[in-house]
Amino acid sequence: MAEKRIALVTGAGRGIGAEIALTLAAENTDIAVVDYSDQAAAQATLDALTAAGVTARYYRCDVSDFTATKNVVDQIVKDFGKIDILVNNAGITADNLLLRMEEAEWDRVLSINLKGCFNMIKHVTPYMMRKRYGRIVSISSVVGLMGNAGQANYAASKAGIIGLTKTVAKEFGARNITANAVAPGFIKTAMTDALTEEQKQAMYKLIPLGKLGETKDIANAVKFLVSEDARYITGVVLKVDGGMYI
Ligand code: NAP
Repeated sequence: MAEKRIALVTGAGRGIGAEIALTLAAENTDIAVVDYSDQAAAQATLDALTAAGVTARYYRCDVSDFTATKNVVDQIVKDFGKIDILVNNAGITADNLLLRMEEAEWDRVLSINLKGCFNMIKHVTPYMMRKRYGRIVSISSVVGLMGNAGQANYAASKAGIIGLTKTVAKEFGARNITANAVAPGFIKTAMTDALTEEQKQAMYKLIPLGKLGETKDIANAVKFLVSEDARYITGVVLKVDGGMYI
């Protein structure tokens, strides 16, 4: 049996991140759950991971905080001995048309969505380099590729993740560290559940496969990118969007 791997998943308390954590757990992987405000959700993920038979621990941390992320990464390595896989999933939206967008809305989204990825990659890669092994997957969005009215901050952050990923792939490839991005389209989560039937029908028309994606679709893409089958894949953006952006 292959050696057990350790994955750090940010925003693993709920939604897509929780699904990624559970999917990796089924692949002989222990999980460090990094999440911030909703501790009840994080506890529920932790319970599900423990029930799945892996070792899982919760670390409360704001990914936009450089020092806090360093402390958490160091603590995770103390607790688990290493970090093989980093999944940068934590993200927020604060939508507004550019004309109305406040500076604080721009700064907050960029800090969490983009600087959060930088912080984690910056602190995790020294440990991965020592082991000459690492798998980094960051969750972007098709909005980062195509733009979206009302989401200048979010689209910029998700496009930034793609530039960051490609650069990390180039800088760390020689150390056997791969870096890839997954760009989800519309995924069925609490956010999309809140849409009206009319809004959903309008959305389906944009998607050749004619339906919303599921959190499992994103988790399966991450599972592939961190697997041995993807060992020669780095610097790619894997769209998981039902063909919404072709
Ligand atoms: P979600 O349900 O809102 O979950 C986001 C997670 O990120 C939560 O667990 C949240 O935890 C955590 N988080 C937020 N701010 C954080 C911070 N400062 N530090 C640490 N953790 C933080 O969102 P989701 O729909 O699962 O989305 C997950 C990722 O996929 C995001 O990057 C999102 O942009 C991307 N995505 C989603 C869709 C979609 O259709 N849902 C489409 C494209 C891309 P707390 O609230 O407890 O802080």
